[in-house]
Amino acid sequence: MKLPDNFPTLPDFPSGEVWLAGAGPGDPRLLTVLALHAVSNADTIVHDALVDPRILDLADKGTERIFAGKRGGRPSPQQRDINTILIDRARAGRRVLRLKGGDPFVFGRGWDEAAALTEAGIRFRIIPGITSGLAAAALAGIPATSRDTNHAVILAAGHRAQDGKSAADWEALAKVGQPIILYMPMAQLADITAALARGGMASDTPAAIIQGASTVEERVVESSLAKLADDAHREGIGAPAIVVIGKIAGLRQGLLSSMVGWQ
Ligand code: SAH
Repeated sequence: MKLPDNFPTLPDFPSGEVWLAGAGPGDPRLLTVLALHAVSNADTIVHDALVDPRILDLADKGTERIFAGKRGGRPSPQQRDINTILIDRARAGRRVLRLKGGDPFVFGRGWDEAAALTEAGIRFRIIPGITSGLAAAALAGIPATSRDTNHAVILAAGHRAQDGKSAADWEALAKVGQPIILYMPMAQLADITAALARGGMASDTPAAIIQGASTVEERVVESSLAKLADDAHREGIGAPAIVVIGKIAGLRQGLLSSMVGWQ
């Protein structure tokens, strides 16, 4: 694809700079133009497990790739170590692309890295990406908002924080009466849905699980608040998956006869 002549100029990627970019949910076609530009121009790409291999393959063969994410069972690198890699590579004069799944500032520790770079006096640029929660919903035919159902939407992280406490107060969130889009939902799904029910959310509230949105593994399972954890288990849902809970999750049925798949 050639960019139109009147497309805004893309910035130079100066050596010694770090670009903190989102790679979107998976499909390379959902990269932003700036993120694609960054992939083509970086000397070093430091990426998470969620960055789709098809995106990494877009880089030149000579581009250094450093994996800095969680990989099944093995301890993930400490945030401090990742910061050190970014800072050292930038100080060595490399053009460093820190590439994260989705958007770097949505459950992505992007701010922490930007703060570390600021402290180290390293110049950086932030390139937003399409966050997987909104992309997964949209690709499944679920609107994040619709005029008849909701005027707000909650993005929440379902994982258990490392100190053993879940950060969100699910009973309170249920009382807000707005749909919830859950990232990292699987580990805690039974506890979360039970807490939402205790908070007053109706057991027949529509829900949907979207696994591997925009990848070849994409699957959508429709459910309800009461059945969500069992359905996820029975269907063998694994990471990465997004769970949508609320009336919006039921709206996709009205679209399926005409909606074309992402492929
Ligand atoms: N910064 C990322 C989120 C990182 S947290 C973003 O903005 O999307 C990791 C979680 O993102 C996963 O546990 C999963 O809930 C979600 N996720 C990422 N890619 C996904 C995909 N293709 N399909 C479904 N969920 C995805």
